[in-house]
Amino acid sequence: MNNLPAVASNYFVECKKCGQERYHKVLTHVGEDTAKLECEVCHTKKTLKMSEGVPVEKKAAKKPSTKAPKKPTLSRAEKAAVAAASAANARFIELQEKIGEQKAQPYRMASNFNVDMKIEHPKFGVGFVVMSLTDKIEVVFQDTSRQLVHGRK
Ligand SMILES: [Zn+2]
Repeated sequence: MNNLPAVASNYFVECKKCGQERYHKVLTHVGEDTAKLECEVCHTKKTLKMSEGVPVEKKAAKKPSTKAPKKPTLSRAEKAAVAAASAANARFIELQEKIGEQKAQPYRMASNFNVDMKIEHPKFGVGFVVMSLTDKIEVVFQDTSRQLVHGRK
């Protein structure tokens, strides 16, 4: 099948040099589907390759992007929260091994708690007291550490 424009005819196609579509004189047929053309304006020669009646540009086929999709990035606050949670979790596991055998004391604001006591908070669950001041304690829970009041009479 020969879809090529006839030799000596004019064929309207883009000229790379002119940067726009120009009439090209068909100089010769190179093969079944390839012709040599010459731009009417700048006289640059080009090779026209036809495929099913449509000119095929000799452009390299665009490769699909191989870039991996971006991982969702955590905000600074989220990163800090994740770091704090994993730090608290490591500490929780450590304390669990150390004093986890203790009977948990139910947490009440009015009670007094000392360091290394195991407590059970109605909302946060089991935690370990790591700091005890006059009016507050710091408790390491599985997800994070929290400051709670105690000794409130
Ligand atoms: Zn041209």
